[in-house]
Amino acid sequence: MICPFCRHEESRVVDSRPIDDGSSIKRRRECVECGRRFTTSESTLLFVEKRSGALEPFSREKVISGVRKACQGRPVDDDDLSLLAQRVEEIIRAEGQAEIPSHEVGMAILSPLRELDVIAYLRYASVYRNFTTLEDFEGEIALLRAAPSEDFLAFEKLNSEKNSPNKTSPKNNPASLTNIPNN
Ligand SMILES: [Zn+2]
Repeated sequence: MICPFCRHEESRVVDSRPIDDGSSIKRRRECVECGRRFTTSESTLLFVEKRSGALEPFSREKVISGVRKACQGRPVDDDDLSLLAQRVEEIIRAEGQAEIPSHEVGMAILSPLRELDVIAYLRYASVYRNFTTLEDFEGEIALLRAAPSEDFLAFEKLNSEKNSPNKTSPKNNPASLTNIPNN
């Protein structure tokens, strides 16, 4: 790796750490000539096969631009979108293929988008899955109701634990309220 300061060709690695769930690695290097340090990152190449058969490198930016329109007017910010793109990449990389068809990228977007915002998800899914009738929407909404996202399940679980009759929290136990000293 050529030193960006003096163009010397040799450097030594002083630190390495995996980033993005292990799909890339960051290395801190020190130039053996001028002693200055710089960072490099290394990641395995992931290609998307377009419908035409052409290959292009996977791009988180493309994922973001693909869902941005569906998120218009929704409480979704740029951080949410970059996290979503990161999750999409993780889902795809977990499949262990170096080349994936573009429609699988679309599939990988659905689940994290659903967790992020159900309305954006419905908009995206309606285009992506070619919804043509009201029944298509109704079917998807019924599915959303029947199988809430994991976050929602966790939230429900937390709530049911809070309100469980076996655990008497001061809030649910009128007796403990009357025992609060009144001075
Ligand atoms: Zn140097």
